[in-house]
Amino acid sequence: WIKESKYTVVLTGAGMSTESGIPDFRSKDGLWHKKKPPKLSSKKALVADYGGYVDSYKEGMKNRPNYKPHQGYEILAGWEDKGLVESIITQNVDDLHVAAGSRNLYRLHGSLFEFKCNDCSTPAIKDHFLDKIPCEVCGGRLRPTIVYFGESLPKEELYDSIEEMKKAELVLIIGTSLVVSPVKKFPQLTQGKTVYINNETKEDDFDLVFIGRAGEILEDVNKKLGAI
Ligand code: NAD
Ligand code: ZN
Repeated sequence: WIKESKYTVVLTGAGMSTESGIPDFRSKDGLWHKKKPPKLSSKKALVADYGGYVDSYKEGMKNRPNYKPHQGYEILAGWEDKGLVESIITQNVDDLHVAAGSRNLYRLHGSLFEFKCNDCSTPAIKDHFLDKIPCEVCGGRLRPTIVYFGESLPKEELYDSIEEMKKAELVLIIGTSLVVSPVKKFPQLTQGKTVYINNETKEDDFDLVFIGRAGEILEDVNKKLGAI
């Protein structure tokens, strides 16, 4: 299917990054099965305790190991280089697709490593955020571009990724529980074949399902592709 398809789109979620050491939300080792969601995911903190919010970001970054994209990420970037993949739509905010060298990337939930003003959305630099310097344009609070619950998705990325889904002849859906809107409806947008790769099953109408670890399955498929 990968060789036949003239337009392959990849859709990834937090399960794509667990093999790089970043926990997801909903699987059995996910963050939501431990305590409450981490402070970084809280818009409340941004509004009510901005100093604490920035400090918790700094703390979070200091404590995290140097996460690196696993082999599966490299394979997807390589498939794009070879013209086997057109684009990647991700819900992840960890920028591991960027680190792996994927170029045609739609980050629907923003990034933990890019910053903007919370009030007027003007882009900002990381050092200004870390130093709690207000927005140069409106004096508002700076923050990462990640999308919190209740916020709308970046318009252009959303529009473009819907177009990508419509154009796709093949969609590889990797490591997402497909419960978060609007992505949960994305598989219905394509006329193409859908392949679901996940370590847990999901009742849905996919053309093909692989149960297992994303990185390992991608390595396996990549080997087979090389042999064709
Ligand atoms: P999710 O936590 O709801 O679902 C992850 C899915 O991946 C689950 O179905 C799980 O069974 C599966 N999975 C876990 N490890 C896997 C592996 N090694 N191989 C294959 N499948 C695996 O995540 P979601 O659907 O992306 O939605 C959660 C939201 O949380 C997103 O909005 C995302 O922005 C955010 N989030 C992002 C990160 C990140 O950037 N790495 C991490 C946690 C949460
Ligand atoms: Zn501003």
